[in-house]
Amino acid sequence: MNNQNNKQRLVVLGAGESGVGTALLAKAKGYEVFVSDFGEIADKYASILTKAGLAFEEKQHTKALILNADVVMKSPGIPDTAPIVKKLIAKGVEVISEIEFAVKYTKATLIGITGSNGKTTTTMLTGHVLSAGTNGVTMAGNIGDSFARLVLDNKTKTYVLELSSFQLDGIREFMPHIAILTNLSPDHLDRYEYSYDKYIASKFRLIKNQTEHDYFIYDADDKEIQNYLKIHKPKAQCFPFSLKKELEQGAFIKNNHIVINMNNEQDIIVSESSLSLKGKHNTKNAMAAAMAARLIGIRKQTIRESLTNFQGVEHRLEMVLKINNVQYINDSKATNVNAAYFALEAVKTPVVWIVGGVDKGNDYSELYKLVNEKVKAIICLGVDNSRIVASFENCVETIVETQSMQEAVKIAYALGDKNDTVLLSPCCASFDLFENYEDRGNQFKAAVHKL
Ligand code: ADP
Repeated sequence: MNNQNNKQRLVVLGAGESGVGTALLAKAKGYEVFVSDFGEIADKYASILTKAGLAFEEKQHTKALILNADVVMKSPGIPDTAPIVKKLIAKGVEVISEIEFAVKYTKATLIGITGSNGKTTTTMLTGHVLSAGTNGVTMAGNIGDSFARLVLDNKTKTYVLELSSFQLDGIREFMPHIAILTNLSPDHLDRYEYSYDKYIASKFRLIKNQTEHDYFIYDADDKEIQNYLKIHKPKAQCFPFSLKKELEQGAFIKNNHIVINMNNEQDIIVSESSLSLKGKHNTKNAMAAAMAARLIGIRKQTIRESLTNFQGVEHRLEMVLKINNVQYINDSKATNVNAAYFALEAVKTPVVWIVGGVDKGNDYSELYKLVNEKVKAIICLGVDNSRIVASFENCVETIVETQSMQEAVKIAYALGDKNDTVLLSPCCASFDLFENYEDRGNQFKAAVHKL
């Protein structure tokens, strides 16, 4: 205890959704709280902090007010290499994530979802299916209100939590009753000393505290997951899913239906064709959500209905419009090769592909086969398109470059023939030309609506 009033001092680094939520919860639980943000704090959050009477600072980190913490909640956007974090670690101060801090104040059932792609979709799909079958289900984590703030309200019986690797890096005792690992592909390696193994280990922190009373749902077709599990056996009961093989325990495809084998009972859940979300990746997401729902005790009929009426998530393979029989699809959230792979795989017509942005060291070779088969023209939309051009100039005859979304859509319109698809699935981050992926997707949709 570092202060005179016998209260534990919690310092929150970063005053965004998770930071402010943690500060409110910590105050209610009797901590002395101080919030510090090195940048500018958004008005909305500054006013919440002021109203709650919480001490805070912005545009600086005052060491004297931070290094005397008993415990520090670090927002997921702040890397361990930030000087203030290094100092805290060197001093031996415990640095944790919002999820870790909040979890000790709830008795709700926790479903934790991570993976390189499909976290948001699977979280929303699982939330949708569970909400149809039971009360008191809330989605949190990277989605919507912060987990900590919801824990303060204490109304939820089941949390479906979308968890990034950054959030998992800051857990110690957090333990989801049901863990879902959607898949693994290289991403955010800059935060992991460019080591894919370290990134994978971070994702697997999701299951490290689970016991044999818990469940682990994962993609059995994913080589990296398989390799990891060969060496590290999970303590939880495993329910893998596969598009390729029948499983004694888990979900798979049989006669074009999702089938779940659980504890010697085989249930046919739903036909692949009736799933509202298209594409093989979404079939996997549906298998994961369906198994989580079965483990929570949701009826098959409810699961079937929910998987067929789910509306989808904006900017993820989102159907925008059909113009002159050309389908326009917004998949702006596809910021890596793996996500774009599944988008190209899902489209069954010739494709005019809008791609590009900030390339995080992509290896495009796994796309060659699909691009050869399906892509009739590429529109590069980025400040530097050289890697995309070099990678695909031998597969596709028409490659056009632009730095304007409006122009990209106009070119796509000119190149698209009846029954083609215009697909924005950029493989790259958006911040060279756009504020974020939402801005990129919204600009795409606006340009399509203007056609
Ligand atoms: P995340 O939250 O992990 O970024 P999203 O659900 O937002 O994942 O989807 C990001 C991108 O990945 C979208 O382009 C989406 O179509 C694609 N995607 C969704 N689920 C999967 C999956 N299981 N495997 C690969 N790509 C996926």
